[in-house]
Amino acid sequence: MLFTINDAKELDQKDVLSTYRNEFYLKEGVIYLDGNSLGLLSKRAEESVLSLLHSWKELAIEGWMNGANPWFYLSEKLGAKMAKLIGAKESEVLVTGSTTINLHQLLATFYEPTNGRTKIIADELTFPSDIYAIKSQIKLKGLSPEEQLVQVKSKDGYLLDEDSIIEAMDEQTSIVVLSSVLYRSGQLLNMKKLVEAAHQRGILIGFDLAHSIGALPHNFYDVQPDFAFWCNYKYVNSGPGSVGGLYVNEKHFGKVPGIAGWFSSKKDKQFDMEHELDHEFSAGAYQVGTPHILSTAPIIGSLQLFEEVGIDRIRQKSLSLTDFLMKLIDQELSTFSFSIINPKLAEHRGGHVCLHHPEAASICKALKANGVIPDYREPNLIRLAPISFYTSFEEVWQTVQILKEIMVNEEYKKYQNKRDVIA
Ligand SMILES: *Cc1c(COP(=O)(O)O)cnc(C)c1O
Repeated sequence: MLFTINDAKELDQKDVLSTYRNEFYLKEGVIYLDGNSLGLLSKRAEESVLSLLHSWKELAIEGWMNGANPWFYLSEKLGAKMAKLIGAKESEVLVTGSTTINLHQLLATFYEPTNGRTKIIADELTFPSDIYAIKSQIKLKGLSPEEQLVQVKSKDGYLLDEDSIIEAMDEQTSIVVLSSVLYRSGQLLNMKKLVEAAHQRGILIGFDLAHSIGALPHNFYDVQPDFAFWCNYKYVNSGPGSVGGLYVNEKHFGKVPGIAGWFSSKKDKQFDMEHELDHEFSAGAYQVGTPHILSTAPIIGSLQLFEEVGIDRIRQKSLSLTDFLMKLIDQELSTFSFSIINPKLAEHRGGHVCLHHPEAASICKALKANGVIPDYREPNLIRLAPISFYTSFEEVWQTVQILKEIMVNEEYKKYQNKRDVIA
């Protein structure tokens, strides 16, 4: 059976989230498929930023304790709301820092190279910033990254095999740091299996949720990782440089923060101004200084949308969108040497479709010139992320039609097959 535009229209009619499209600022004539790099602005996020500015204007110093969202407690309050996205306790989650900074904090806290357990396991496909952070934390402990960082290899350059990660875990391993969803191939790892294997061997394990938070639910009550960290500008739609988040399993509460500051303090003691830190008995201990309130503000509005819709429905629609996209790619583009890199099974993939093509960079430029915003990742990968809140099935249909046209008339050949500075 061949799909037609009517199938797309029918899927849109049945879509229970279709009205949420009106909550976002979409550009006329543009199909935005880059929400996995930078989510679009919602009206709620805009309102919460303006309202926060207003609280500064009206309340000045009193804003720390008064107003609709007292700034002093905002990081904890939003962390508690984010806990629903990952199936964790409210006290285990905090809005703070950024992906990279939070990884630094968590390694500074949990990486204790003693008793022969000196190694950190990561993988060769992970995001470079995570590797830079791991290497610098190893150096800060006076050790050599060449000796202590183990990067598990991928067989095909796109996907990881949980069993080979588990094989690398041994009595020298201190910590394992992996991504929940790989940023290029979109592979979703079996976190539960990895956590069980690590814990059986006395190893700590943490996850980078940059490509899963807001795209799919986690159940950390069940998975029980030791820690996790993420940014909120991708699927959480909180804007460029918005404050990130971290999770610390409650079994570690009380652990002295590796990077301490006065906001690590118990809230009621913070203004005692003692030089002996009495740190919070919650994820709150792992923040450092005064929170970046203005870059936290959009998260207030963004999370209202997640609260209304629920992460399960977001995942359901996301799977339908990406499923439809993959079927259309198979149907319409089979003669053009594209290959779908992401795993096909729902339980093994995240929120984006990853396409390989030797001319990926020039194809991405041609897509942009035709009003479709994908993103390009080295080497030769096109990521397409339809977002549950604001992408329609008809847009998915149009995207594939535009892509087909670019291939048929060879429009992509007008462009250099080379990435721009930001890809
Ligand atoms: C986006 C992303 C980052 C970015 O880190 P920042 O500190 O937020 O700049 C890090 N790791 C992964 C896996 C990412 O996808």
